[in-house]
Amino acid sequence: MNGPSVRDILKKSEAFLAERGVDCPRLSAELLLAEALGLDRLHLFLDMARPLTADEVSRARDLVARRGRGEPVALILGRKEFFGLEFRVTRDVLVPRPETELLLEEAQRDIPKDTAFLAADLGTGSGCLAVALAVLFPQARVAAVDVSPAALAVARDNTQRHGVAERVLPVRADAGRCPLADGSCRLVLANPPYVSAPEFAGLSCEVREFEPRLALWGGGDGLDQVRAQAPEVARLLAPGGLGFMEIGCSQGPAALEIFQALAAFSRATVLRDLAGRQRAVAVLRG
Ligand code: GLN
Repeated sequence: MNGPSVRDILKKSEAFLAERGVDCPRLSAELLLAEALGLDRLHLFLDMARPLTADEVSRARDLVARRGRGEPVALILGRKEFFGLEFRVTRDVLVPRPETELLLEEAQRDIPKDTAFLAADLGTGSGCLAVALAVLFPQARVAAVDVSPAALAVARDNTQRHGVAERVLPVRADAGRCPLADGSCRLVLANPPYVSAPEFAGLSCEVREFEPRLALWGGGDGLDQVRAQAPEVARLLAPGGLGFMEIGCSQGPAALEIFQALAAFSRATVLRDLAGRQRAVAVLRG
């Protein structure tokens, strides 16, 4: 007798995940079933009637059960796409978010592609910003700074995966105390932890229980690391250099004030995403 089809398993998995209340039950089921079968999503769609072997069913069941406990799909698969590149992710790093791509789009708009320069990525995590930056700017070198050795191991792996290991150097240091000379950088990017205490309590369990607190928790008002890293952005940038730091969508005015108080910047503005939400602070070193 034939085993259950792709269509059968998808339907069952979706219903199970919906009942467990996880985000995106249908998409999760598709991605996990594709993984269990070693297919991409397109081929899953093209082969809905394909019967599954007992082994395949049990593999799919294991993955879907993990998702049912709230584990994010990216962590189950061990990979996440960011800026069109695939990154390895583990529980030691923040899963790259699409909104963080804004920092790269800004850098891309302001700096010509073939410029040779040194950049720093403060709190690199998976290395997604540092690696994407090195891919975008073939003459750039990037210091990928993180305090977590486990995160740096993931970042290093991602530099190799994308062929930029020679230009992206993982550096173990506190993001507010980076061992690079004053004025050495043309560009500084940072995605600090900026979740405030009240927001942390409201995070979905998928984020709060599976992603590193170190990469999320920004203290009472969420701005501890913004305060710690803003002077470092000022110190690292050469005159005319640019800094882009991601912030939470209600932190624009407070974050701006932190940067403006430093007097090192001739311009500091809040950038918004396409939906109009405050997303980053952009600074120009005077
Ligand atoms: N945007 C992330 C979230 O809402 C937070 C990332 C961060 O603190 N840098 O889960």
